[in-house]
Amino acid sequence: MTTTAVEASTAAYVEEAAVQVGAEREPQRYMQPFRATQTRTTIAVADAVDEQGNQIRVVGSSEPRLRAAQRAMLKPGEVEAKGNGHAEVTVLDHLRVNNLSIRSIGASRPVCANCNVAIESFGIKAATPLKLPKEYLFIKK
Ligand SMILES: [Zn+2]
Repeated sequence: MTTTAVEASTAAYVEEAAVQVGAEREPQRYMQPFRATQTRTTIAVADAVDEQGNQIRVVGSSEPRLRAAQRAMLKPGEVEAKGNGHAEVTVLDHLRVNNLSIRSIGASRPVCANCNVAIESFGIKAATPLKLPKEYLFIKK
């Protein structure tokens, strides 16, 4: 495949994943309450299913837990993931500990390389854009 074909299929995959579960749009919803939260922290949202087949949406922050206003936004079927580190890893840890099968994950800011490796270890691709390494941007010019 050419680079353009790879990019096109990646974009199509991301779009499809987002359409299927809404993980691409959801992180932004949790960022609404605080302007500072929006610029300094990351929110990650994953759609998953439990062992009984129930759909669960897991929401985590780059802060140790969601802020009160964000917790107040959680709807039935949505749970908070707590923990230190990047939002994506906090959410992935919650999935692993609770035996949830991931379907999609997205974040409110570009996904870093480490989180991307963690996401791919679950056999899926991030539903939202990746933060590209500087070398890659340089090569692209
Ligand atoms: Zn990260």
